[in-house]
Amino acid sequence: MAGVTVEVPEYEVVDRVELPARRTAVIVVDMQNDFVKEGGKLRVPTAEATVEPIRRLLERARRAGVRVFYTQDTHYDGDPEFEIWGEHARHGTWGWEIVEELKPRPGDIVVQKTRYDGFYGTPLDDLLRVYGVEYTVIVGTVANICVLHTAASAALRWYKVVIPVDGVSALTDFDLHATLRQVSWLYKGVIVRSVDGVVFR
Ligand code: ZN
Repeated sequence: MAGVTVEVPEYEVVDRVELPARRTAVIVVDMQNDFVKEGGKLRVPTAEATVEPIRRLLERARRAGVRVFYTQDTHYDGDPEFEIWGEHARHGTWGWEIVEELKPRPGDIVVQKTRYDGFYGTPLDDLLRVYGVEYTVIVGTVANICVLHTAASAALRWYKVVIPVDGVSALTDFDLHATLRQVSWLYKGVIVRSVDGVVFR
């Protein structure tokens, strides 16, 4: 199906969203060397530009007492995903590690996941419930793959989903817009223009 031109249906992008710090978690999806850095096995070229906005978001989140979660794509020998994507995010390798600039701090929670969805086969839902989280701010990569699956999974569990546009990256504009439109339209999430518009109170 080559050469099809489609128009992105309109979806709302807000400038500012206020969230209750104690009932909010930031979830950083798969910001690992393999996806972000030069020499990474499945690099998303625009992911590097999201590092600084995500760093700013995390700094304010931690200061406000917002809980910070990371998902870490994690594969072992013979993982069936290697047949689709080639080898990546192999446990223990440089590519598997979260990028230096966003290294988890003491108190942050890292959830190792084997599939696109951060909830699938992980304790993420349990941990969010234990800590009384209702709102999730989701950033990271790849927008239409692990970010979307995680956002969808959060929304299906009735967490409110917020996605800052400058905190997510994809391989194509189509993938990015499809993700944001889907989160907005189907999952009733909030798309905010920038991480700086996410206010914790
Ligand atoms: Zn993977």
